[in-house]
Amino acid sequence: MKNTKYDIVIIGGGATGSGIAIDAASRGYKTLLLEKNDFAEGTSSRSTKLVHGGVRYLEAAVKGLDKEQFNLVKEGLKERSRLLNNAAHLCSKLTLVTPIYKWWELPYMFVGLSLYDFVSGKCGLGRSSIVSKNTMFSNFPSIKKEGLVGGVKYYDGSFNDARLNISLLQTAEKYGAECKNYHDVESFIYENEKISGLRVKNRINNKVETVNSSIVINATGAFSDQIRFRDDKDAKKMLDLSSGIHIVLDKKYLPSNEGLMIPKTEDGRVLFILPWMGKCLIGTTDENTSLSEHPKVEEKDVEYILKHLEIYFDLKIKKNEILSSWCGIRPLVAPDNNASTSSIVRDHIISSSKSGLVSIIGGKWTTYRKMAEETIDYVTSKYDLKQKQCKTKKLKLVGSEKLNKNQKIDNLSEEINNHLINMYGDKAVDVYKSSQEIERLHKDYSYINAEVIYCIKNEFVQKPLDFLVRRSSLGLIDIGVAKNMLESVLLIMKSELNWDDATLDAERSEAQTLLNSSI
Ligand SMILES: Cc1cc2nc3c(=O)[nH]c(=O)nc-3n(C[C@H](O)[C@H](O)[C@H](O)COP(=O)(O)OP(=O)(O)OC[C@H]3O[C@@H](n4cnc5c(N)ncnc54)[C@H](O)[C@@H]3O)c2cc1C
Repeated sequence: MKNTKYDIVIIGGGATGSGIAIDAASRGYKTLLLEKNDFAEGTSSRSTKLVHGGVRYLEAAVKGLDKEQFNLVKEGLKERSRLLNNAAHLCSKLTLVTPIYKWWELPYMFVGLSLYDFVSGKCGLGRSSIVSKNTMFSNFPSIKKEGLVGGVKYYDGSFNDARLNISLLQTAEKYGAECKNYHDVESFIYENEKISGLRVKNRINNKVETVNSSIVINATGAFSDQIRFRDDKDAKKMLDLSSGIHIVLDKKYLPSNEGLMIPKTEDGRVLFILPWMGKCLIGTTDENTSLSEHPKVEEKDVEYILKHLEIYFDLKIKKNEILSSWCGIRPLVAPDNNASTSSIVRDHIISSSKSGLVSIIGGKWTTYRKMAEETIDYVTSKYDLKQKQCKTKKLKLVGSEKLNKNQKIDNLSEEINNHLINMYGDKAVDVYKSSQEIERLHKDYSYINAEVIYCIKNEFVQKPLDFLVRRSSLGLIDIGVAKNMLESVLLIMKSELNWDDATLDAERSEAQTLLNSSI
Protein backbone atom coordinates (compact mmCIF):
# COMPACT_ATOMS: atom_id res chain seq x y z
CA MET A 1 0.00 0.00 0.00
CA LYS A 2 2.85 2.35 0.95
CA ASN A 3 4.24 2.62 -2.58
CA THR A 4 0.95 3.00 -4.44
CA LYS A 5 -0.84 6.25 -5.17
CA TYR A 6 -4.53 5.42 -5.09
CA ASP A 7 -7.20 7.42 -6.90
CA ILE A 8 -9.74 6.57 -4.21
CA VAL A 9 -9.48 5.08 -0.71
CA ILE A 10 -12.66 3.89 0.98
CA ILE A 11 -12.95 3.49 4.74
CA GLY A 12 -15.48 0.82 5.77
CA GLY A 13 -16.13 -2.65 4.35
CA GLY A 14 -19.87 -2.97 4.84
CA ALA A 15 -22.50 -2.73 2.10
CA THR A 16 -21.88 0.96 1.44
CA GLY A 17 -18.08 0.87 1.19
CA SER A 18 -17.98 -2.43 -0.71
CA GLY A 19 -20.55 -1.13 -3.22
CA ILE A 20 -18.44 2.01 -3.72
CA ALA A 21 -15.34 -0.16 -4.27
CA ILE A 22 -17.04 -1.98 -7.17
CA ASP A 23 -18.31 1.22 -8.69
CA ALA A 24 -14.92 2.95 -8.48
CA ALA A 25 -12.85 -0.04 -9.65
CA SER A 26 -15.17 -0.93 -12.52
CA ARG A 27 -14.94 2.66 -13.78
CA GLY A 28 -11.17 2.17 -13.83
CA TYR A 29 -10.01 4.08 -10.74
CA LYS A 30 -7.16 2.72 -8.61
CA THR A 31 -9.13 1.78 -5.52
CA LEU A 32 -8.30 0.64 -2.00
CA LEU A 33 -10.88 -0.36 0.65
CA LEU A 34 -9.94 -0.60 4.33
CA GLU A 35 -12.06 -2.29 7.00
CA LYS A 36 -11.02 -2.31 10.66
CA ASN A 37 -12.78 -5.58 11.59
CA ASP A 38 -14.03 -8.30 9.30
CA PHE A 39 -16.05 -7.33 6.23
CA ALA A 40 -19.75 -6.99 7.13
CA GLU A 41 -18.97 -7.36 10.83
CA GLY A 42 -20.92 -4.13 11.44
CA THR A 43 -24.54 -3.54 10.46
CA SER A 44 -24.22 -5.25 7.08
CA SER A 45 -24.51 -8.79 8.50
CA ARG A 46 -27.28 -7.83 10.93
CA SER A 47 -30.16 -6.82 8.67
CA THR A 48 -33.62 -8.37 8.29
CA LYS A 49 -32.32 -9.89 5.01
CA LEU A 50 -35.00 -8.19 2.89
CA VAL A 51 -34.38 -6.72 -0.53
CA HIS A 52 -37.21 -4.23 -0.51
CA GLY A 53 -38.60 -0.91 -1.62
CA GLY A 54 -40.18 -0.33 1.79
CA VAL A 55 -43.93 -0.94 2.02
CA ARG A 56 -44.19 1.18 5.11
CA TYR A 57 -42.48 4.16 3.47
CA LEU A 58 -45.07 3.92 0.71
CA GLU A 59 -47.86 4.22 3.26
CA ALA A 60 -46.12 7.26 4.74
CA ALA A 61 -45.64 8.72 1.24
CA VAL A 62 -49.33 8.36 0.40
CA LYS A 63 -50.60 9.59 3.75
CA GLY A 64 -48.27 12.57 3.80
CA LEU A 65 -48.46 13.22 0.02
CA ASP A 66 -44.70 13.11 0.25
CA LYS A 67 -43.02 12.89 -3.15
CA GLU A 68 -39.57 12.37 -1.66
CA GLN A 69 -40.69 9.27 0.26
CA PHE A 70 -42.50 8.03 -2.84
CA ASN A 71 -39.33 8.37 -4.95
CA LEU A 72 -37.42 6.54 -2.25
CA VAL A 73 -39.75 3.55 -2.58
CA LYS A 74 -39.60 3.68 -6.37
CA GLU A 75 -35.81 3.77 -6.32
CA GLY A 76 -35.72 0.92 -3.80
CA LEU A 77 -37.93 -1.21 -6.04
CA LYS A 78 -35.71 -0.57 -9.05
CA GLU A 79 -32.63 -1.54 -7.05
CA ARG A 80 -34.46 -4.61 -5.71
CA SER A 81 -34.86 -5.80 -9.27
CA ARG A 82 -31.21 -5.13 -10.16
CA LEU A 83 -29.99 -6.97 -7.09
CA LEU A 84 -32.16 -10.01 -7.82
CA ASN A 85 -30.70 -10.08 -11.35
CA ASN A 86 -27.07 -9.33 -10.56
CA ALA A 87 -26.69 -11.51 -7.48
CA ALA A 88 -29.10 -14.34 -8.23
CA HIS A 89 -26.99 -16.81 -6.21
CA LEU A 90 -27.69 -14.95 -2.96
CA CYS A 91 -30.96 -13.10 -3.56
CA SER A 92 -34.37 -14.56 -4.35
CA LYS A 93 -38.01 -13.64 -4.56
CA LEU A 94 -39.90 -13.93 -1.26
CA THR A 95 -43.64 -14.23 -0.78
CA LEU A 96 -44.91 -12.27 2.20
CA VAL A 97 -48.36 -12.36 3.72
CA THR A 98 -49.87 -9.84 6.04
CA PRO A 99 -52.56 -11.30 8.35
CA ILE A 100 -55.73 -9.24 8.67
CA TYR A 101 -57.90 -9.13 11.80
CA LYS A 102 -60.30 -6.29 10.91
CA TRP A 103 -62.61 -6.34 7.86
CA TRP A 104 -61.83 -2.81 6.77
CA GLU A 105 -58.12 -3.56 6.76
CA LEU A 106 -58.51 -6.12 3.97
CA PRO A 107 -59.34 -3.60 1.19
CA TYR A 108 -56.95 -1.07 2.77
CA MET A 109 -53.98 -3.47 2.69
CA PHE A 110 -54.93 -4.88 -0.69
CA VAL A 111 -55.09 -1.45 -2.31
CA GLY A 112 -51.87 -0.40 -0.56
CA LEU A 113 -49.95 -3.48 -1.66
CA SER A 114 -51.38 -3.26 -5.18
CA LEU A 115 -50.01 0.26 -5.26
CA TYR A 116 -46.62 -1.22 -4.25
CA ASP A 117 -46.93 -3.53 -7.31
CA PHE A 118 -47.93 -0.57 -9.47
CA VAL A 119 -44.94 1.50 -8.35
CA SER A 120 -42.69 -1.52 -9.11
CA GLY A 121 -43.83 -1.29 -12.75
CA LYS A 122 -41.62 -3.47 -14.95
CA CYS A 123 -39.61 -4.47 -11.87
CA GLY A 124 -42.64 -6.13 -10.23
CA LEU A 125 -42.25 -9.62 -8.78
CA GLY A 126 -45.92 -10.65 -8.95
CA ARG A 127 -49.36 -9.31 -8.21
CA SER A 128 -50.66 -8.90 -4.68
CA SER A 129 -53.69 -10.99 -3.85
CA ILE A 130 -56.15 -11.69 -1.07
CA VAL A 131 -55.61 -14.91 0.89
CA SER A 132 -58.56 -16.73 2.44
CA LYS A 133 -58.79 -17.47 6.14
CA ASN A 134 -58.51 -21.23 5.49
CA THR A 135 -55.36 -20.85 3.39
CA MET A 136 -53.89 -18.74 6.19
CA PHE A 137 -54.64 -21.54 8.67
CA SER A 138 -53.05 -24.20 6.51
CA ASN A 139 -49.95 -22.16 5.59
CA PHE A 140 -49.40 -20.75 9.06
CA PRO A 141 -50.77 -23.40 11.45
CA SER A 142 -49.85 -21.52 14.63
CA ILE A 143 -51.29 -18.15 13.62
CA LYS A 144 -53.84 -16.66 16.05
CA LYS A 145 -57.15 -17.93 14.72
CA GLU A 146 -59.55 -15.83 16.75
CA GLY A 147 -60.82 -12.92 14.66
CA LEU A 148 -58.61 -13.68 11.63
CA VAL A 149 -60.33 -12.39 8.50
CA GLY A 150 -57.72 -13.47 5.92
CA GLY A 151 -54.50 -12.09 4.56
CA VAL A 152 -52.94 -10.12 1.73
CA LYS A 153 -50.02 -11.59 -0.19
CA TYR A 154 -47.26 -9.53 -1.80
CA TYR A 155 -43.66 -10.00 -2.95
CA ASP A 156 -40.22 -8.70 -2.05
CA GLY A 157 -36.73 -10.20 -2.05
CA SER A 158 -34.74 -12.15 0.52
CA PHE A 159 -30.94 -12.31 0.64
CA ASN A 160 -27.87 -13.37 2.52
CA ASP A 161 -26.40 -10.02 3.54
CA ALA A 162 -22.99 -11.09 4.85
CA ARG A 163 -22.32 -13.32 1.85
CA LEU A 164 -23.48 -10.64 -0.58
CA ASN A 165 -20.97 -8.32 1.07
CA ILE A 166 -18.18 -10.79 0.21
CA SER A 167 -19.46 -11.16 -3.33
CA LEU A 168 -19.28 -7.34 -3.71
CA LEU A 169 -15.66 -7.34 -2.55
CA GLN A 170 -14.68 -10.24 -4.82
CA THR A 171 -16.26 -8.36 -7.72
CA ALA A 172 -14.41 -5.17 -6.78
CA GLU A 173 -11.14 -7.15 -6.69
CA LYS A 174 -11.92 -8.64 -10.07
CA TYR A 175 -11.89 -5.06 -11.41
CA GLY A 176 -8.57 -4.32 -9.70
CA ALA A 177 -9.58 -2.95 -6.29
CA GLU A 178 -7.57 -3.97 -3.21
CA CYS A 179 -9.79 -4.83 -0.25
CA LYS A 180 -8.27 -5.35 3.20
CA ASN A 181 -10.02 -6.38 6.37
CA TYR A 182 -8.48 -5.84 9.83
CA HIS A 183 -7.03 -2.51 8.69
CA ASP A 184 -8.04 0.25 11.07
CA VAL A 185 -7.85 3.83 9.74
CA GLU A 186 -6.42 5.72 12.72
CA SER A 187 -5.80 9.22 11.36
CA PHE A 188 -5.50 11.42 8.31
CA ILE A 189 -2.41 12.98 6.74
CA TYR A 190 -2.75 16.52 5.37
CA GLU A 191 -0.94 18.70 2.85
CA ASN A 192 -1.92 22.37 2.74
CA GLU A 193 -4.92 21.52 4.96
CA LYS A 194 -6.23 19.00 2.41
CA ILE A 195 -6.25 15.24 3.00
CA SER A 196 -3.34 13.55 1.20
CA GLY A 197 -3.37 10.17 2.91
CA LEU A 198 -4.10 7.99 5.91
CA ARG A 199 -2.39 6.16 8.75
CA VAL A 200 -3.64 2.60 8.96
CA LYS A 201 -3.01 -0.04 11.60
CA ASN A 202 -2.90 -3.64 10.40
CA ARG A 203 -4.67 -5.39 13.29
CA ILE A 204 -3.22 -8.80 12.47
CA ASN A 205 0.48 -7.81 12.77
CA ASN A 206 -0.03 -4.47 14.60
CA LYS A 207 2.06 -2.53 12.05
CA VAL A 208 1.09 1.02 11.13
CA GLU A 209 1.34 1.91 7.46
CA THR A 210 0.71 5.08 5.49
CA VAL A 211 -1.45 5.25 2.39
CA ASN A 212 -1.40 7.98 -0.27
CA SER A 213 -4.62 9.27 -1.73
CA SER A 214 -6.18 12.68 -1.99
CA ILE A 215 -9.69 11.21 -2.28
CA VAL A 216 -10.89 9.45 0.83
CA ILE A 217 -14.47 8.25 1.23
CA ASN A 218 -15.86 7.66 4.69
CA ALA A 219 -18.38 4.80 4.41
CA THR A 220 -18.26 3.67 8.00
CA GLY A 221 -21.98 3.39 8.74
CA ALA A 222 -22.63 3.94 12.44
CA PHE A 223 -19.01 5.12 12.83
CA SER A 224 -19.31 7.87 10.20
CA ASP A 225 -19.50 10.73 12.69
CA GLN A 226 -16.55 9.30 14.65
CA ILE A 227 -14.43 9.40 11.47
CA ARG A 228 -15.74 12.87 10.58
CA PHE A 229 -14.76 14.14 14.03
CA ARG A 230 -11.25 12.69 13.55
CA ASP A 231 -10.95 14.91 10.47
CA ASP A 232 -12.67 17.95 11.97
CA LYS A 233 -13.36 18.02 15.70
CA ASP A 234 -15.89 20.83 15.21
CA ALA A 235 -17.93 18.98 12.57
CA LYS A 236 -21.71 18.89 13.08
CA LYS A 237 -23.22 15.53 14.06
CA MET A 238 -25.02 14.02 11.06
CA LEU A 239 -26.08 10.60 12.34
CA ASP A 240 -28.73 9.19 14.61
CA LEU A 241 -28.30 5.60 15.72
CA SER A 242 -31.08 3.11 16.23
CA SER A 243 -30.64 -0.52 17.24
CA GLY A 244 -32.64 -3.48 15.98
CA ILE A 245 -32.48 -7.06 17.15
CA HIS A 246 -33.47 -10.34 15.50
CA ILE A 247 -34.09 -13.73 17.01
CA VAL A 248 -33.96 -17.08 15.22
CA LEU A 249 -36.23 -20.03 15.97
CA ASP A 250 -36.64 -23.51 14.62
CA LYS A 251 -38.36 -23.82 11.24
CA LYS A 252 -41.28 -25.61 12.92
CA TYR A 253 -42.59 -22.18 13.90
CA LEU A 254 -42.81 -21.18 10.22
CA PRO A 255 -43.17 -24.37 8.18
CA SER A 256 -44.23 -22.40 5.10
CA ASN A 257 -41.76 -20.84 2.64
CA GLU A 258 -43.81 -17.66 2.87
CA GLY A 259 -42.99 -14.95 5.38
CA LEU A 260 -45.36 -12.90 7.51
CA MET A 261 -45.36 -9.14 7.79
CA ILE A 262 -47.17 -7.58 10.73
CA PRO A 263 -47.50 -4.02 9.42
CA LYS A 264 -48.30 -2.32 12.67
CA THR A 265 -47.77 -3.68 16.15
CA GLU A 266 -49.75 -1.90 18.86
CA ASP A 267 -46.84 0.54 19.23
CA GLY A 268 -46.67 1.18 15.48
CA ARG A 269 -43.69 -0.99 14.45
CA VAL A 270 -43.31 -3.50 11.63
CA LEU A 271 -42.57 -7.09 12.59
CA PHE A 272 -41.32 -9.71 10.12
CA ILE A 273 -41.44 -13.47 10.62
CA LEU A 274 -39.40 -14.88 7.76
CA PRO A 275 -38.05 -18.14 6.39
CA TRP A 276 -34.26 -17.82 6.24
CA MET A 277 -31.60 -20.49 5.78
CA GLY A 278 -33.93 -23.23 6.94
CA LYS A 279 -34.95 -21.35 10.09
CA CYS A 280 -37.51 -18.82 11.23
CA LEU A 281 -36.09 -15.29 11.51
CA ILE A 282 -38.00 -12.68 13.52
CA GLY A 283 -37.39 -8.97 13.86
CA THR A 284 -36.96 -6.25 14.45
CA THR A 285 -36.94 -3.60 17.14
CA ASP A 286 -36.14 0.09 16.80
CA GLU A 287 -34.53 1.82 19.79
CA ASN A 288 -32.35 4.92 20.11
CA THR A 289 -28.87 3.71 20.90
CA SER A 290 -25.24 4.72 21.22
CA LEU A 291 -22.21 3.57 19.23
CA SER A 292 -20.84 0.13 20.04
CA GLU A 293 -18.52 -2.32 18.29
CA HIS A 294 -20.52 -5.47 19.09
CA PRO A 295 -23.98 -4.24 20.13
CA LYS A 296 -25.63 -6.48 22.70
CA VAL A 297 -29.08 -8.04 22.46
CA GLU A 298 -31.00 -6.62 25.43
CA GLU A 299 -33.37 -8.85 27.43
CA LYS A 300 -36.13 -6.27 27.07
CA ASP A 301 -35.89 -6.41 23.27
CA VAL A 302 -36.14 -10.21 23.27
CA GLU A 303 -39.15 -9.94 25.58
CA TYR A 304 -40.71 -7.38 23.24
CA ILE A 305 -40.45 -9.78 20.29
CA LEU A 306 -41.68 -12.80 22.27
CA LYS A 307 -44.61 -10.77 23.62
CA HIS A 308 -45.63 -9.82 20.10
CA LEU A 309 -45.34 -13.37 18.86
CA GLU A 310 -47.87 -14.30 21.52
CA ILE A 311 -50.24 -11.61 20.20
CA TYR A 312 -50.16 -12.98 16.64
CA PHE A 313 -49.57 -16.69 17.27
CA ASP A 314 -51.15 -19.34 19.47
CA LEU A 315 -47.72 -20.09 20.84
CA LYS A 316 -45.76 -19.77 24.02
CA ILE A 317 -42.10 -19.57 23.03
CA LYS A 318 -39.55 -19.98 25.79
CA LYS A 319 -36.30 -18.02 25.73
CA ASN A 320 -34.26 -21.24 25.67
CA GLU A 321 -35.83 -22.09 22.30
CA ILE A 322 -34.04 -19.13 20.69
CA LEU A 323 -31.28 -20.57 18.50
CA SER A 324 -29.50 -17.30 17.96
CA SER A 325 -30.00 -13.56 18.26
CA TRP A 326 -28.08 -10.49 17.19
CA CYS A 327 -28.29 -6.73 17.27
CA GLY A 328 -27.46 -4.22 14.53
CA ILE A 329 -27.17 -0.45 14.51
CA ARG A 330 -28.95 1.56 11.83
CA PRO A 331 -26.94 4.56 10.66
CA LEU A 332 -29.74 7.08 10.10
CA VAL A 333 -29.47 10.58 8.73
CA ALA A 334 -30.24 12.83 11.69
CA PRO A 335 -33.35 14.93 11.16
CA ASP A 336 -33.41 18.54 12.23
CA ASN A 337 -36.15 17.85 14.76
CA ASN A 338 -36.25 15.38 17.64
CA ALA A 339 -38.60 12.83 16.06
CA SER A 340 -38.35 9.25 17.30
CA THR A 341 -35.98 7.21 15.16
CA SER A 342 -38.70 5.03 13.62
CA SER A 343 -40.07 8.09 11.80
CA ILE A 344 -36.76 9.04 10.21
CA VAL A 345 -36.67 8.36 6.48
CA ARG A 346 -33.94 5.80 5.69
CA ASP A 347 -32.34 7.98 3.07
CA HIS A 348 -28.72 8.89 2.52
CA ILE A 349 -26.67 12.03 2.07
CA ILE A 350 -23.22 12.65 0.63
CA SER A 351 -21.13 15.52 1.92
CA SER A 352 -17.52 16.66 2.07
CA SER A 353 -15.48 18.41 4.74
CA LYS A 354 -13.16 21.44 4.41
CA SER A 355 -10.20 19.10 4.05
CA GLY A 356 -11.96 17.07 1.36
CA LEU A 357 -13.12 13.99 3.31
CA VAL A 358 -16.22 12.66 1.53
CA SER A 359 -18.81 11.02 3.79
CA ILE A 360 -21.78 8.95 2.74
CA ILE A 361 -24.31 8.66 5.52
CA GLY A 362 -27.48 6.56 5.89
CA GLY A 363 -29.16 4.41 3.25
CA LYS A 364 -30.14 0.76 3.26
CA TRP A 365 -28.66 -2.50 1.95
CA THR A 366 -31.09 -2.71 -0.97
CA THR A 367 -29.92 0.61 -2.42
CA TYR A 368 -26.16 0.13 -1.90
CA ARG A 369 -25.52 0.19 -5.69
CA LYS A 370 -27.33 3.48 -6.28
CA MET A 371 -25.63 5.03 -3.26
CA ALA A 372 -22.26 3.93 -4.68
CA GLU A 373 -23.05 5.36 -8.10
CA GLU A 374 -24.06 8.70 -6.58
CA THR A 375 -20.95 8.79 -4.39
CA ILE A 376 -18.54 8.23 -7.27
CA ASP A 377 -20.47 10.71 -9.47
CA TYR A 378 -20.15 13.23 -6.62
CA VAL A 379 -16.43 12.56 -6.25
CA THR A 380 -15.67 12.84 -9.96
CA SER A 381 -17.63 16.07 -10.30
CA LYS A 382 -15.90 17.64 -7.31
CA TYR A 383 -12.31 16.39 -7.52
CA ASP A 384 -9.61 16.22 -10.11
CA LEU A 385 -10.52 12.80 -11.57
CA LYS A 386 -11.39 12.02 -15.16
CA GLN A 387 -15.17 11.43 -15.35
CA LYS A 388 -16.15 7.91 -16.37
CA GLN A 389 -19.55 6.26 -16.70
CA CYS A 390 -20.98 4.00 -13.98
CA LYS A 391 -21.03 0.33 -15.08
CA THR A 392 -22.80 -1.45 -12.24
CA LYS A 393 -26.47 -1.43 -13.29
CA LYS A 394 -26.19 -4.76 -15.08
CA LEU A 395 -22.90 -5.96 -13.70
CA LYS A 396 -23.18 -9.55 -12.49
CA LEU A 397 -21.52 -10.14 -9.14
CA VAL A 398 -18.96 -12.90 -8.54
CA GLY A 399 -20.83 -16.14 -7.89
CA SER A 400 -23.71 -15.29 -10.22
CA GLU A 401 -21.88 -14.91 -13.54
CA LYS A 402 -22.35 -18.51 -14.73
CA LEU A 403 -24.90 -19.60 -12.16
CA ASN A 404 -26.72 -22.88 -12.76
CA LYS A 405 -28.88 -23.69 -9.76
CA ASN A 406 -29.39 -27.27 -11.02
CA GLN A 407 -25.69 -28.02 -11.31
CA LYS A 408 -24.59 -31.45 -10.00
CA ILE A 409 -21.08 -31.62 -8.58
CA ASP A 410 -19.38 -35.01 -8.96
CA ASN A 411 -20.54 -37.48 -6.36
CA LEU A 412 -21.62 -34.98 -3.71
CA SER A 413 -24.85 -35.77 -1.86
CA GLU A 414 -27.80 -33.70 -3.06
CA GLU A 415 -27.96 -31.92 0.29
CA ILE A 416 -24.32 -30.76 0.26
CA ASN A 417 -24.51 -30.03 -3.49
CA ASN A 418 -27.49 -27.70 -2.97
CA HIS A 419 -25.92 -26.12 0.08
CA LEU A 420 -22.74 -25.23 -1.85
CA ILE A 421 -24.70 -23.79 -4.78
CA ASN A 422 -26.92 -21.71 -2.49
CA MET A 423 -23.93 -20.31 -0.65
CA TYR A 424 -21.28 -19.94 -3.37
CA GLY A 425 -23.24 -19.89 -6.64
CA ASP A 426 -21.02 -20.70 -9.61
CA LYS A 427 -17.99 -20.98 -7.31
CA ALA A 428 -19.44 -24.14 -5.70
CA VAL A 429 -17.15 -26.44 -7.71
CA ASP A 430 -14.10 -24.42 -6.64
CA VAL A 431 -15.20 -24.85 -3.03
CA TYR A 432 -15.58 -28.60 -3.49
CA LYS A 433 -12.11 -28.83 -5.07
CA SER A 434 -10.49 -27.00 -2.16
CA SER A 435 -10.07 -30.23 -0.21
CA GLN A 436 -9.11 -33.68 -1.46
CA GLU A 437 -11.20 -35.33 1.22
CA ILE A 438 -14.64 -33.94 1.95
CA GLU A 439 -15.69 -34.05 5.58
CA ARG A 440 -18.86 -32.73 7.16
CA LEU A 441 -18.28 -30.28 9.98
CA HIS A 442 -21.52 -31.13 11.83
CA LYS A 443 -23.96 -34.00 11.57
CA ASP A 444 -27.06 -31.74 11.43
CA TYR A 445 -25.74 -29.20 8.92
CA SER A 446 -24.30 -29.43 5.40
CA TYR A 447 -21.14 -27.41 6.05
CA ILE A 448 -17.91 -29.12 4.93
CA ASN A 449 -14.19 -28.68 5.64
CA ALA A 450 -13.53 -27.52 2.05
CA GLU A 451 -15.56 -24.36 2.71
CA VAL A 452 -13.19 -23.20 5.44
CA ILE A 453 -10.18 -23.74 3.17
CA TYR A 454 -11.88 -22.03 0.21
CA CYS A 455 -12.94 -19.07 2.36
CA ILE A 456 -9.42 -18.61 3.74
CA LYS A 457 -8.00 -18.58 0.20
CA ASN A 458 -10.76 -16.66 -1.60
CA GLU A 459 -13.04 -14.92 0.88
CA PHE A 460 -10.67 -12.98 3.16
CA VAL A 461 -11.15 -15.24 6.24
CA GLN A 462 -8.52 -14.45 8.87
CA LYS A 463 -10.28 -15.33 12.13
CA PRO A 464 -12.61 -18.21 13.06
CA LEU A 465 -15.74 -16.05 13.38
CA ASP A 466 -15.14 -14.60 9.90
CA PHE A 467 -16.10 -18.08 8.75
CA LEU A 468 -18.41 -19.21 11.54
CA VAL A 469 -20.57 -16.07 11.63
CA ARG A 470 -20.24 -14.21 8.34
CA ARG A 471 -19.17 -16.60 5.52
CA SER A 472 -21.26 -19.53 6.74
CA SER A 473 -23.98 -17.53 8.59
CA LEU A 474 -23.96 -20.36 11.12
CA GLY A 475 -23.51 -18.11 14.15
CA LEU A 476 -26.53 -16.14 12.98
CA ILE A 477 -28.81 -19.16 12.72
CA ASP A 478 -27.58 -21.47 15.49
CA ILE A 479 -25.04 -20.15 17.93
CA GLY A 480 -24.83 -23.50 19.77
CA VAL A 481 -23.70 -25.32 16.64
CA ALA A 482 -21.25 -22.51 15.82
CA LYS A 483 -19.67 -23.02 19.26
CA ASN A 484 -19.61 -26.73 18.58
CA MET A 485 -17.83 -26.31 15.27
CA LEU A 486 -15.26 -23.82 16.58
CA GLU A 487 -12.56 -26.40 17.31
CA SER A 488 -12.77 -28.04 13.86
CA VAL A 489 -12.57 -24.63 12.17
CA LEU A 490 -9.63 -23.58 14.37
CA LEU A 491 -7.68 -26.71 13.43
CA ILE A 492 -8.22 -26.17 9.70
CA MET A 493 -7.17 -22.54 10.10
CA LYS A 494 -4.06 -23.51 12.08
CA SER A 495 -2.94 -25.77 9.29
CA GLU A 496 -3.85 -23.42 6.40
CA LEU A 497 -2.46 -20.26 8.01
CA ASN A 498 0.55 -21.89 9.74
CA TRP A 499 -0.50 -20.68 13.18
CA ASP A 500 1.70 -21.60 16.14
CA ASP A 501 0.10 -22.87 19.35
CA ALA A 502 0.06 -19.42 20.96
CA THR A 503 -1.87 -17.96 18.01
CA LEU A 504 -4.27 -20.87 18.08
CA ASP A 505 -4.96 -20.33 21.80
CA ALA A 506 -5.41 -16.57 21.36
CA GLU A 507 -7.82 -17.04 18.44
CA ARG A 508 -9.79 -19.69 20.36
CA SER A 509 -10.11 -17.47 23.40
CA GLU A 510 -11.19 -14.39 21.38
CA ALA A 511 -13.77 -16.42 19.42
CA GLN A 512 -15.17 -18.03 22.57
CA THR A 513 -15.57 -14.66 24.25
CA LEU A 514 -17.55 -13.28 21.31
CA LEU A 515 -19.66 -16.42 20.87
CA ASN A 516 -20.56 -16.29 24.56
CA SER A 517 -21.36 -12.56 24.68
CA SER A 518 -22.38 -10.94 21.41
CA ILE A 519 -21.35 -11.88 17.88
C1 LIG B 1 -31.91 -4.20 12.43
C2 LIG B 1 -31.66 -3.77 11.02
C3 LIG B 1 -32.39 -4.33 9.98
C4 LIG B 1 -32.15 -3.93 8.66
N1 LIG B 1 -32.82 -4.55 7.67
C5 LIG B 1 -32.60 -4.20 6.39
C6 LIG B 1 -33.23 -4.91 5.34
O1 LIG B 1 -33.95 -5.88 5.56
N2 LIG B 1 -32.99 -4.50 4.07
C7 LIG B 1 -32.18 -3.43 3.79
O2 LIG B 1 -32.06 -3.09 2.61
N3 LIG B 1 -31.53 -2.77 4.77
C8 LIG B 1 -31.71 -3.14 6.05
N4 LIG B 1 -31.03 -2.51 7.06
C9 LIG B 1 -30.10 -1.43 6.73
C10 LIG B 1 -28.73 -1.96 6.27
O3 LIG B 1 -28.35 -3.11 6.97
C11 LIG B 1 -27.69 -0.86 6.47
O4 LIG B 1 -28.14 0.31 5.85
C12 LIG B 1 -26.34 -1.23 5.87
O5 LIG B 1 -25.93 -2.50 6.28
C13 LIG B 1 -25.30 -0.20 6.29
O6 LIG B 1 -24.08 -0.56 5.70
P1 LIG B 1 -22.79 0.33 5.94
O7 LIG B 1 -21.74 -0.21 5.07
O8 LIG B 1 -23.15 1.76 5.77
O9 LIG B 1 -22.45 0.13 7.47
P2 LIG B 1 -21.66 -1.08 8.17
O10 LIG B 1 -22.10 -2.39 7.67
O11 LIG B 1 -21.77 -0.88 9.64
O12 LIG B 1 -20.17 -0.88 7.69
C14 LIG B 1 -19.34 0.14 8.16
C15 LIG B 1 -17.99 -0.45 8.42
O13 LIG B 1 -17.04 0.58 8.69
C16 LIG B 1 -16.05 0.01 9.51
N5 LIG B 1 -15.21 1.03 10.15
C17 LIG B 1 -15.59 1.89 11.13
N6 LIG B 1 -14.54 2.63 11.50
C18 LIG B 1 -13.48 2.24 10.74
C19 LIG B 1 -12.10 2.63 10.68
N7 LIG B 1 -11.60 3.56 11.51
N8 LIG B 1 -11.29 2.02 9.79
C20 LIG B 1 -11.77 1.05 8.95
N9 LIG B 1 -13.06 0.65 8.99
C21 LIG B 1 -13.91 1.23 9.87
C22 LIG B 1 -16.88 -0.79 10.51
O14 LIG B 1 -16.09 -1.77 11.18
C23 LIG B 1 -17.96 -1.38 9.63
O15 LIG B 1 -17.68 -2.69 9.21
C24 LIG B 1 -31.21 -2.92 8.39
C25 LIG B 1 -30.46 -2.36 9.43
C26 LIG B 1 -30.67 -2.81 10.74
C27 LIG B 1 -29.85 -2.26 11.84
